[in-house]
Amino acid sequence: MSAAYKIIDHTYDVVVVGAGGSGLRTTMGAAQNGLKTACITKVFPTRSHTVAAQGGIAASLGNMGPDHWTWHMYDTVKGSDWLGDQDAIEYLTREAPAAVIELEHMGLPFSRTPDGKIYQRAFGGMTQNMGEGPAAQRTAAAADRTGHAMLHTLYQQSLKYDADFFIEYFALDLIMENGACRGVIALNMEDGSIHRFRSQAVVLATGGYGRIYFSCTGAHTQTGDGNAMVLRAGLPLQDMEFVQFHPTGVYGVGVLITEGARGEGGYLTNSEGERFMERYAPSAKDLASRDVVSRSMAMEIREGRGVGPQKDHIFLHLDHLDPKILAERLPGISESARIFAGVDVTRQPIPVIPTVHYNMGGIPTNYHGEVVSPKAGDPDAVVPGLFAVGEAACVSVHGANRLGSNSLIDLVVFGRAAGLRLAEVCKPGILQEPLAKDSADLSLSRLDHFRYADGSSPTADIRIDMQRTMQADAAVFRTERTLAEGATKIDKVYGRMTDISVTDRSLIWNSDLVETLELDNLIAQAVVTMHCASNRKESRGAHMHEDYPKRDDKNWMKHTVAWFDGWGGKGGSVKIDYRPVHDFTLTDDVEYIKPKARVY
Ligand SMILES: Cc1cc2nc3c(=O)[nH]c(=O)nc-3n(C[C@H](O)[C@H](O)[C@H](O)COP(=O)(O)OP(=O)(O)OC[C@H]3O[C@@H](n4cnc5c(N)ncnc54)[C@H](O)[C@@H]3O)c2cc1C
Repeated sequence: MSAAYKIIDHTYDVVVVGAGGSGLRTTMGAAQNGLKTACITKVFPTRSHTVAAQGGIAASLGNMGPDHWTWHMYDTVKGSDWLGDQDAIEYLTREAPAAVIELEHMGLPFSRTPDGKIYQRAFGGMTQNMGEGPAAQRTAAAADRTGHAMLHTLYQQSLKYDADFFIEYFALDLIMENGACRGVIALNMEDGSIHRFRSQAVVLATGGYGRIYFSCTGAHTQTGDGNAMVLRAGLPLQDMEFVQFHPTGVYGVGVLITEGARGEGGYLTNSEGERFMERYAPSAKDLASRDVVSRSMAMEIREGRGVGPQKDHIFLHLDHLDPKILAERLPGISESARIFAGVDVTRQPIPVIPTVHYNMGGIPTNYHGEVVSPKAGDPDAVVPGLFAVGEAACVSVHGANRLGSNSLIDLVVFGRAAGLRLAEVCKPGILQEPLAKDSADLSLSRLDHFRYADGSSPTADIRIDMQRTMQADAAVFRTERTLAEGATKIDKVYGRMTDISVTDRSLIWNSDLVETLELDNLIAQAVVTMHCASNRKESRGAHMHEDYPKRDDKNWMKHTVAWFDGWGGKGGSVKIDYRPVHDFTLTDDVEYIKPKARVY
């Protein structure tokens, strides 16, 4: 058993797990401040999902017309359906322009206006003048490959700093001692060696967990490993019931067509050729926020006006746009449409369907990136030594629904903020107490358990069972019945984990084992997501509950926090509690934005 594993020890001031946009920006910030920093990543940094981001990054630069950070703040609060924390949203939108200029100075090749400024396009839910004015062109872009440009820029820059990269290392679990985080254990996938990192702080930048669903725009590596480590450490996750469906995944394959396509003038039609968004969102139309557009598409399909032989999808038209604009601003999705849907976008519409895209929920943090876990009398109690940033974190700036292009900006603004806070709470090079003798026990017993698992259910079987259950019972429309049935079904699927079979026992590039560890991470989050969805008796943002079709601020304007006990099919109960939404701003420069009906 565990004694058989040889452990290689490391000591750092800071360990960052994840090398996507948020992990790299945090690594740079920590290293810049003289902290000895390690960045651990299961894929090569430039293969992180951030590379796939298309449409762009939001900031009120005002390059294409009037704009102001308070307008961006208003739109983000409204987009969040008043579940976002307004202090954090103020921080995000205020810092956004400087963060984009910083990326420009690092060399990010943004698209340009004729007079050389950073080009910005319209995106859903982004408006002028505190929601009163027309659409704001706020989303800075590098054609439709913004994430690619951003991740490569950040990786190149991060090499300038004195940080150590541990590439293709799979982080297994946190080392917790007396309620504080003291490090992390990782498996080097190339040679099977076990690495124990002792550090003053660990930053989880492990991305989303979209792969609990069957149809998803995200990478296969989006398995929410950091979120699951937090659950196993006995800490809660927040707002897990809020899962964003992007309106335009390519039908049948899930590949994303950026919202920037509608930002450039694309529109949706049903089987009658009708531009139906005019009925659901008379002023914003196709540029209403994502939850609204996804729900409208699902309504059209349900009422028999879907396109195709099964009447089960919708058309996205770009064929009326100037082919020159398509080639210049949307080359990537033109290619994706050709490869994945066999469509020439200059002549034909793209078949699309709402597809899982983003997790608003995750590890609760404050706007410094510090992980919080509510205690009696203190809903914002900080967990010493533990940070989270990026899609893994729930700050919460996106609340119940994220606006498009607000994630890339969240990565760099809060990655930078975490770096600043780390510089305050960590002391470069101080001597750290030895770790407890059993510090690797959880990681190694779990690794060992799955490595020798000899049940009768292959990992892929249980994974598809989980994904189909989530897709069927916790998708765009949710009812009391689907959620109750879904909860029973997903608990059963979780139970199947006790019967899992892993056939490869080696430790050299054992993808069977690593995928099993990932599935164990995913399924804990699937169970939590389903139970939290079934618990919330209202409709807010992405959580559309047909039996409670209205937002209920009196009873439900609060964050869900949920604990999960167990792994590997053992235990499996979910405990739910709440944290208040921050109904205050950071400064007096802006007033608290009062809740009102959310219409577009
Ligand atoms: C197709 C697509 C298009 C998008 N377009 C946009 C857009 O235009 N604008 C926008 O704002 N947002 C967009 N988004 C959302 C946005 O791209 C993501 O939310 C964001 O990039 C997530 O970044 P991250 O730093 O949190 O993590 P990721 O980029 O997902 O990286 C996660 C990192 O964690 C590491 N990791 C995970 N688990 C482990 C482990 N166990 N051990 C070691 N390392 C681990 C991985 O190796 C990786 O480096 C898009 C998303 C998708 C899927």
